[in-house]
Amino acid sequence: MRIPLTIVGTGLSFLFLVVLFWPLEKIFPAKNQRTFRPNWGTDLAFFLGQYLLWGGCVLAALHFFRGWLDGIVPIGFRTAVRLQPWWLQAIEVILLSDLFVYWGHRLQHRVGFLWRFHSIHHSAEHLDWLAAHREHPLDTVYTMGLINLPAFLLGFPLETLAGLLAFRGIWAIYIHSNVRLPIGPLRLLIGAPELHHWHHCREREAGNYANISPLMDLLFGTYRCPADEPESFGVNEPMPGTYLGQMIHPFRRPRSKPGRKLAHEPDAPKPERANERFGAVR
Ligand SMILES: [Zn+2]
Ligand SMILES: [Zn+2]
Repeated sequence: MRIPLTIVGTGLSFLFLVVLFWPLEKIFPAKNQRTFRPNWGTDLAFFLGQYLLWGGCVLAALHFFRGWLDGIVPIGFRTAVRLQPWWLQAIEVILLSDLFVYWGHRLQHRVGFLWRFHSIHHSAEHLDWLAAHREHPLDTVYTMGLINLPAFLLGFPLETLAGLLAFRGIWAIYIHSNVRLPIGPLRLLIGAPELHHWHHCREREAGNYANISPLMDLLFGTYRCPADEPESFGVNEPMPGTYLGQMIHPFRRPRSKPGRKLAHEPDAPKPERANERFGAVR
């Protein structure tokens, strides 16, 4: 019974996202790009894998993680948290969640082992709403674990934040979309595609690590927002071009064979422009 429901749910989600983002990408494009741009099929495979296969596994892993934390967080601590006003608990959960995701994400770009999984997400050379789904399932478990960690620790019921979690999900897709909307200073509060597009430029430690609101980037000096779009997206390392290849890539030993270039291996990185460093806030 569950399998047909999952398939219908996946189809409806795809349709909903097409209806939401396709017109936006056509009317306010950040870059001139065809709908069926190169590697569209690979990103579709990631979308289908996420909805049909890995979504349930990620939820099971989060459930296990929550149960494990329940056993180690003292009950007195949780009672003290619950005695606070509801709105204060919500603010604490949101800010802590942003803080954990920011540092967790920054670590993914710094630590080789974590980068092996996260580099799959960054291997996308064309960004749009579909490319947002290019993510290794273990990368998803890591990020979702960090997003939910404060709520799990504080014993805050996730149902209370269901609306916010849904908004986070849609916004995470939106910041990958090929859209540039003039929302002005609002982007300092809720983030914008141009900020995340710069996170996807070929530089490995490019800044803009915050999940949605760039508050943490502003706080820790990694906010970056040049006026134009990056010249290209992707990673400066060999990366298989297929879905299956990318799924097993993090488990393979890193090797470098001089003279051998894989399908998605880009040319040597271009030197940075001086005005695109951190702090070039406009
Ligand atoms: Zn990243
Ligand atoms: Zn991204």
